[in-house]
Amino acid sequence: MLFEVRCPVCGASGAAPCDRCARRLKAAPALPTPKDVDGCVAALSYTGAGRELVARLKYRNARVSVPGLADAIAALVDPATVDVVTWAPTSAVRRRERGFDQARLLARAVARRLHRPCRALLKRSPGPPQTGRPKRDRVNGPNFTATRKAPKRVLLIDDVITTGATVSAAARALRSAGASEIRAAAAARTPLKATEALSDAAGDG
Ligand SMILES: [Zn+2]
Repeated sequence: MLFEVRCPVCGASGAAPCDRCARRLKAAPALPTPKDVDGCVAALSYTGAGRELVARLKYRNARVSVPGLADAIAALVDPATVDVVTWAPTSAVRRRERGFDQARLLARAVARRLHRPCRALLKRSPGPPQTGRPKRDRVNGPNFTATRKAPKRVLLIDDVITTGATVSAAARALRSAGASEIRAAAAARTPLKATEALSDAAGDG
């Protein structure tokens, strides 16, 4: 073995996540589709083991969990509804800190599974990252601009959907660039109660 695979949740060696932690994962909460998107699916609830799994992808570069999360996201999407896969880019500051963009990693892996192209279509305007901002600021979401003309049907990938403000803002930018059907798909979604009590460790929106 080139490297040992460890469970990102509990650290046990063998699989990411291990069987025990996989059994503790909960399905995403049934919540309304965020504004300005035509559909929204998420694989997991951003709580407990699911939160550990996805948060570690975000903060600790646990790329080992990308294939499993991409499998789970792709299983929720009908490829016939997708012309192109893109992602809601993280802020340049965060990307520099981490050295990667977790939403881009997921988008590329999901696109491979759906046999659809993955394209960078969005740029995030400079500004503070959503994490840690008060909720009243987060509701408006970050600003995105499209970097090129968007195909008609776009699958927008994010790692965590919290308030939905990020995917809504990204969808508006895609629509102004020519997209007419925008579906969001995420690794995890925060249950409403947890969304209301937003903590600094929660997702980007
Ligand atoms: Zn485990």
